[in-house]
Amino acid sequence: MSKPALNRDEQLVSCEICLKSIPVAEANSAETEDYVAYFCGLECYDLWKRQKTREQTADDNTQNTSKQ
Ligand SMILES: [Zn+2]
Repeated sequence: MSKPALNRDEQLVSCEICLKSIPVAEANSAETEDYVAYFCGLECYDLWKRQKTREQTADDNTQNTSKQ
């Protein structure tokens, strides 16, 4: 019966989507151009990915409208 001792220098990060605190060791992470995003689970990671895709699509739309 040995519980894994909490490492004192275990770093906590916040989930990019739901802002839950999670140990960095258990977090799913995604590197972007500017920073590393952390997620509590694949569900949040998936949401974030979809948001990013939508942002990119929005950029395309902006370019299209400004072209006229
Ligand atoms: Zn989350």
